[in-house]
Amino acid sequence: MKTIIVIGGGLSGLISAIQLAKAGIHVILFERKKYPFHRVCGEYISRETIPFLKANGIFPHEFNPPQIHRLQLTSVNGKLAELPLKQGGWGISRYAFDHFLYTKAQEAGVVFHLNTEVESVSFIENQFTVTTSSQSFTADVVIGAFGKRSKMDMQMKRSFIQKRSPYVGIKYHIHYDHPDDCIALHNFRNGYCGISNIENQKTNLCYLTHRDNVKRFGNIRDMEEQVLFENPFLKKIFQNAEFLFDKPEVINEISFEKKSPVEDHVLMAGDSAGMIAPLCGNGMAMAIHSAKLLSEHIISFCKDELTRELLEKNYTQKWNATFAQRLWAGKTIQHLFGSVWTSNLAVNIARHAKPFAQVLINQTHGRPF
Ligand SMILES: Cc1cc2nc3c(=O)[nH]c(=O)nc-3n(C[C@H](O)[C@H](O)[C@H](O)COP(=O)(O)OP(=O)(O)OC[C@H]3O[C@@H](n4cnc5c(N)ncnc54)[C@H](O)[C@@H]3O)c2cc1C
Repeated sequence: MKTIIVIGGGLSGLISAIQLAKAGIHVILFERKKYPFHRVCGEYISRETIPFLKANGIFPHEFNPPQIHRLQLTSVNGKLAELPLKQGGWGISRYAFDHFLYTKAQEAGVVFHLNTEVESVSFIENQFTVTTSSQSFTADVVIGAFGKRSKMDMQMKRSFIQKRSPYVGIKYHIHYDHPDDCIALHNFRNGYCGISNIENQKTNLCYLTHRDNVKRFGNIRDMEEQVLFENPFLKKIFQNAEFLFDKPEVINEISFEKKSPVEDHVLMAGDSAGMIAPLCGNGMAMAIHSAKLLSEHIISFCKDELTRELLEKNYTQKWNATFAQRLWAGKTIQHLFGSVWTSNLAVNIARHAKPFAQVLINQTHGRPF
């Protein structure tokens, strides 16, 4: 029997592991943290994921996730537009969803090593050796599901990691009177902030900004007051919400550089293969979809229907055909965010050229799968 090692237990790693284990394959997953835990994410999941999750018994019905059907967009100086979202999304915290998937993966027979960081991977004579600080493991296939930025990217000397990235992500959970059916995207200088509801009447507030914004003011709170409060919608939320974390979740160095879905024979899923701009609200859908595609290819490999060469070639082709256009569109549309002029332009498009705005949104999403 072949052994598959999954490095990273976010959405792409957990879902790949579940699909493979359900097909009777021996799967070992390494995750450097321990569930449940919070991560920086807007926690709005595109509805294109629902058929797959329901068909595989991994839709988290018990959390009764809010269904989101409209977008509220504001410019840096608070000009407002509203758009219906044709496809829309649903909201759930990663704290709840990843833990839910972890329990599903355990039920499916996945072997977990939690609190365990993989330090290196090598591929010699058709076999992988995966090394942690205390042990080495061998595998026939390795899935790289280690997210946007990991020690593994350094160890593998991936090209995107050589460049510094200025983007910082910050997230809170709050209690605030935000409507369940709406996701708001509020612009501020050098950034944008998403607000949408998750389970248990909580609201996610998550924003992306530039490192220089934080540096200029020395700390996050002062930056929020000096920069985010320029947008009257954000000022109102920050001044009236109850903040539920002691301190925000923060990540640095978020890179939107091109990556490759296969590197040194390691098959990448989710953000390890390519990261879409957060404003698209499609990163989690891409993580789930890429896990589906990758596990289907690996199952064929395990049944000897594909050679390793074809596994890598076919998966690369499928990944590019499914996601490359979306990544490009996200990166391009992100330029409309974060300045007075461009954010007013984005709001004007949403107000006065609704069909065109819908076309732009569609470019950043996939079809139900
Ligand atoms: C500010 C911001 C807002 C966002 N908002 C949204 C949104 O609203 N909707 C949406 O769809 N997407 C959003 N995204 C994107 C979304 O969060 C990601 O696309 C998604 O989490 C990718 O899942 P993943 O499984 O690839 O990686 P992750 O969920 O990041 O999981 C990777 C896992 O690998 C583990 N790991 C890393 N290195 C190692 C190692 N060496 N050994 C063991 N474990 C390791 C990590 O601990 C982590 O648990 C946002 C992203 C940002 C930055």
